[in-house]
Order: sequence, then structure tokens, then C-alpha cells
Amino acid sequence: MTQEIGGFAALELHPNIVAAVVATGYEEPSAIQQQSIPIILAGHDMIGQAQTGTGKTAAFALPILHRIDPSKREPQALILAPTRELALQVATAFETYAKQMPGVTVVAVYGGAPMGPQLKAIRNGAQIVVATPGRLCDHLRRDEKVLATVNHLVLDEADEMLKLGFMDDLEVIFKAMPESRQTVLFSATLPQSIRAIAERHLKDPKHVKIQSKTQTVTAIEQAHLLVHADQKTAAVLSLLEVEDFDALIMFVRTKQATLDLASALEAKGYKAAALNGDIAQNQRERVIDSLKDGRLDIVVATDVAARGLDVPRITHVFNVDMPYDPESYVHRIGRTGRAGREGRALLLVTPRERRMLQVIERVTGQRVAEVRLPDAQAVLDARIKKLTNSLSPLVADAEATHGDLLDRLTADIGCSPRALAAALLRKATNGQALNLAAIEKERPLVPNSAPRGDRPERSGDRPDRGDRERRAPMPLAEGRARCRTALGARDGIAAKNLLGAILNEGGLAREAIGRIQVRDSFSLVELPEDGLEKLLAKLKDTRVAGKQLKLRRYRED
Ligand code: AMP
Repeated sequence: MTQEIGGFAALELHPNIVAAVVATGYEEPSAIQQQSIPIILAGHDMIGQAQTGTGKTAAFALPILHRIDPSKREPQALILAPTRELALQVATAFETYAKQMPGVTVVAVYGGAPMGPQLKAIRNGAQIVVATPGRLCDHLRRDEKVLATVNHLVLDEADEMLKLGFMDDLEVIFKAMPESRQTVLFSATLPQSIRAIAERHLKDPKHVKIQSKTQTVTAIEQAHLLVHADQKTAAVLSLLEVEDFDALIMFVRTKQATLDLASALEAKGYKAAALNGDIAQNQRERVIDSLKDGRLDIVVATDVAARGLDVPRITHVFNVDMPYDPESYVHRIGRTGRAGREGRALLLVTPRERRMLQVIERVTGQRVAEVRLPDAQAVLDARIKKLTNSLSPLVADAEATHGDLLDRLTADIGCSPRALAAALLRKATNGQALNLAAIEKERPLVPNSAPRGDRPERSGDRPDRGDRERRAPMPLAEGRARCRTALGARDGIAAKNLLGAILNEGGLAREAIGRIQVRDSFSLVELPEDGLEKLLAKLKDTRVAGKQLKLRRYRED
């Protein structure tokens, strides 16, 4: 066993859980995992202040898996998540960590999918239930005993659940579970409403917070790029085309990711290598020496493997995967800008990780400006410049050495020197796209700068708009229908409550929901015309802030 595996082994988790974690490629526990796992294993209630990206899911999933009894075929742990998307993610994480625990089953319970199979999975003995509060309450209405055997409860992203209007549902769920249960609450922020829940429903909770000291970073130009998780490699390749770097280090989270990315880079002709905790010490030293003397230009590393790495040639750090905490970010980017040189640090951020970006900005006291992927023109210019640079030194004496051959070939083939030069170029550039249209096709898709998910309140709610404008119904986009509910601001409803309820119960993607306008005594929501009747039927019993939503098609005339 290498030292890094000891990191998880030292936490006294069941060996099969440690084995699954190691197989996943994690090298050592993140800060929130280090602190939370022993507390949850000891059976305490806990409040963890952590956001997505810190490794919080494993922080509760691993000890909970350790604490359940796989031989008992009944629900033992309930994880509540604000959205269907997060519930599915958490359920998948549990399945990954439970891979070597025969007999453990996980069920995800969320709106938009039929209730029957979910209930059946629970009754068949799934020990772990991951649910959105709204749908779980529907199950409770059918069978108030479903949660009677649950003795571990986790509220994940508790602040988001309250923002989405699940307060009343949470109260119903608390009541349906044994009082003797263990309760763990994770939240990025701890507003008064969350503290009140903790006060009422947690017993003598331990607090875990990753303390962040303000740290300053100078001489390093920082930027971030929004990208979908599955487009990261394409984004990295695109950035490398235009970045003027000497040596570069890329950080990822798992051993597998170091290998995958390093081989993708090698395939594109970069001198790249992976550096991870599985690589023997002497081999690691060879990789670092090669980076120092220019036999390598790019190293793709995990945090563990890059510890102590000091290579003055490094001009760039790419954080391809988000670091767990701001300290680790500062540590990583400190690999560049050594010895007073200028350095550049680039952070890839997936839409769900924006909060972590804000935390990093707060802790470092610096803005990490947004950059865009280079456009096709910039990539084309960079490619042509490289070609020019590689060919121009050859031109000086090429005619003397190869001029006669050129004459002979043009005569033999019967073509012009221009046609022959073009053919040679095609061969030399080996299928590389060298026109705008072809480059455009290669470009990765990037998320919008301001995806809806982060700003559920739509234009109708903006306080800075004039009243008239706010009240005028906006023209409908094609394919959308406007629907109305009698719930409005006076019922304590905000746009985000409606959005959350419709997303969870209707099983729609965020993009499917258009503008939401909340007025005093009613609200309007734009929904897809296609399948509208079915959707409204699905939402028939949905409640928001404790009241029936009763959404109906709305006709302006
Ligand atoms: P979370 O904050 O739970 O959303 O986790 C963010 C990402 O970090 C997920 O992709 C996890 O698979 C990954 N992750 C969690 N813990 C570790 C660890 N100890 N080492 C490497 N990756 C991890």
C-alpha cells in the first residue's frame, strides 16, 4: 500500500469501503472528509458547512455506508437533496462507494418518475434512500411508515432546500422518522432558518467548517473558464493552442484522470506525462527532472503527487478539476510565478462549482476574471503562426538542398510548384484543421455565462424594473405556453420556489422552463407547449410552501 491509501485507511472505515474509494482513484481524504468522517462514524449529529466541490458527498456517504447493516433489508439511511439532479448524483456516489459491499442497495426518489417502482425498491429492502423532499412526502402520504426504520438522516444542501420552499415538507419528513436517529446537515451557508432547523431537530451537533484564512497571491494572473465536465479535455486542448507557455502543470482529482488527460495531450503531440500517487518515487523524480530540463512540457498531477514540486520553468497552472478548498487552490497556483517571474493560473469551473469559485475569490481577496475559449479565428491564427515558425528557419537553404528535386518532381508529376508545395503542406499538417469552418466544428460546447440554475428569479422579479414593465405580459417564445397559479407573493412565494417545485415534481430540465413572473396574488410560468397537459397532470398534487400549486394554462385574452 502506498502512503496515500493510508489516508483513507486511517479513518477506520470498513476495508471494503476503503477499497472501493481507492478503486475510484481518490488518493487522500479532502479536508471536509478528514473532519466529518470520524464524527459521523462515532454516531454524533453534525452540521457541516461546505459547498459542492469540497468532497462533501463522500464525507457523509462513506461513514453512513459503514454504519448501516447490509443484512437488514429495510431503509436505514435517508439523504435529502434539493433537486432531482443532485439526488441522482448522490445516489450514484453511494453506489460507487458501496461497490464492494454485497447486499447494499440504493434507491433515488424524485418527482417526474413513476412512484410505483420507487416504492417497490424501498419495500424490497433498499437500505439507502436518496430523495427530494416533495416526492418523499408524496410517498409518505401513501404509506406513513416508509421511514419508520431510518436511523440516519442527511440533509444535503440544506440552504438550497429551504430556498426552494421545502421547509414544510422537511417538517413532515422529520416527524415520520424515529427521534433516536442520527442527523447530519450540510449547507454552504448557515442563515438563521438553517440554524433554527438544527436547533429543533439535531441533538448536540458537532460543527465542521473548513476554516479559510485569507491568502494573497501576487505575480500570478488568474482566470477561470466555464465548461461542462465532459468538455474539459477539449477545452484544455483549445486553450493550449493559444496560451504561450514554457512549462505547464495541470491539476486533476484522480489517478485515472492524470492518465487520461496526459495521453490525450500526448496524442496531440505535446510532451506530457502523468504524476500520481501510484507512480513509484524514483519514476516521479524522473518526471520532474524531465519537466525541469525541457524533455517534458506538461505534467498532469494530483495534489498528492505534486507536493513539493518546484520547477522554475512553470509559467502556467491549469486547475482542470476544482481544488477542494481555497488553501489548496493557493497552493496549486503557487507552482507558477516562482522566483519573482510572472505566472498564469487558469481554473476550469463547471456550472455546479460556481459557488466554490466565489469562495476562492473571497478567501484570496482577488477576482478570478472569466475568460472565454479562444474563438476559431484565434485558433487559426495560432496554428498558422506555429506553422510559420516551424517552416521559416527551413526556407533559407531549402532551395539549395532540395531545389533540384522540386524541379524534377514538378516535371514528373506535371504540376506547378504551388500545387506541389500545397500537397507537401497537407502532408506536413497531418489532417489538422486550418480553416475557420473546420476549426469551428472542433470547438467544445461551453455553458452560458449565467445559466438559469444559479438565478431562478426571472426578469419579472427584478426590483429595478418599472412597475409597468413588470406587469406587461412578455411575448411568449415559440413552443412555450404560459401557465398560471393562484399562488403569489402574498402567499410567501418567490420565483425560485416555483422553479424548484416544477423541476422536482415535473421532472423537467431547467432549460425547459421559461420566465417566471410572481405577482402579488398569482404567478405566471412559461412551460413547454409540447406535453403540457401531461405535465400539468403530473403537477396536479404539487404543493409549494405548503399550498396546492394548481397550475393551469393561462390565456391572455
Ligand atoms: P462533491 O463536493 O461531493 O460534489 O465532490 C466533488 C467531486 O470530488 C466529485 O467528483 C467526487 O467524485 C470527487 N471527490 C470527492 N472526494 C475525493 C477525494 N478524496 N479524492 C479525489 N476526488 C474526490
